[in-house]
Amino acid sequence: MIFMDTATATVTKPVIGYVHSIETFGSVDGPGIRFVAFLQGCRMRCEFCHNPDTWNIGTGDEIDADTLLQEASKYRAFWGKQGGITCSGGESLLQIDFLIDLFTKAKAMGINTCLDTCGQPFTYKQPWFNKFKKLMAVTDVSMVDIKQIDTDRHKRLTGFNNEPILAMIQYMSENGHHMWIRHVLVPERTDFDENLKELGDYIKTLNYVDKVEVLPYHTMGVVKYEDLGIDYPLKGIEPPTHDRVVNAENYLHVNDYQGWRIYPLNK
Ligand code: SF4
Repeated sequence: MIFMDTATATVTKPVIGYVHSIETFGSVDGPGIRFVAFLQGCRMRCEFCHNPDTWNIGTGDEIDADTLLQEASKYRAFWGKQGGITCSGGESLLQIDFLIDLFTKAKAMGINTCLDTCGQPFTYKQPWFNKFKKLMAVTDVSMVDIKQIDTDRHKRLTGFNNEPILAMIQYMSENGHHMWIRHVLVPERTDFDENLKELGDYIKTLNYVDKVEVLPYHTMGVVKYEDLGIDYPLKGIEPPTHDRVVNAENYLHVNDYQGWRIYPLNK
């Protein structure tokens, strides 16, 4: 779609997003039932990633915000008061211009917006940081992953330091942006009592955390690695036991965060 700006008589091209896939009835990607767009592209290489097919940047299906919202609106009747749209990935923040366009238009339509991000692209450098502030102004809640609180282990696990991720979370905490924090529990990578304790203590220092979740590592992505001809990095590592999941939930004080806050309602 091409748009004519009648005030200046200039033609403005819509911002294009690159989408890996769409889920029309997501129930684990934010509050309520949600229309989820998984955006294409990620720089990190988490060893436990079960979506390596989202990694390539600049590929995927091209779509503009209006078309995506038109499609999402078909499912609006199912969203109730809590649901809405979520942008996940890959790493959604790599397409921040598209996110701003999409969420701004969604908020104008009274739709609840949720950003699912790993935070790796976060920087205070301009013009990126001003864009991030613009995005936060139209984001009702963010789902953020902390993969490892220990920066060396984080680097081994993902290929990147965790400083930008923690800086983003700190910014959200200091500026009233609501978060759900998630942590993938991986034996031999993140399931260490000292790291879990440190992570739990860190989360306790944050404001506006509505929910904390421990996600047990699973091996459902293995077949995708085989399809892509990539060696699976966690060969031989089994999902954590129930006891270790409960142990992690205790360290992360999961029960202190009830996760149910009424976000700005859908109109
Ligand atoms: S940040 Fe997400 S998409 Fe990227 S490698 Fe890690 S788990 Fe996969």
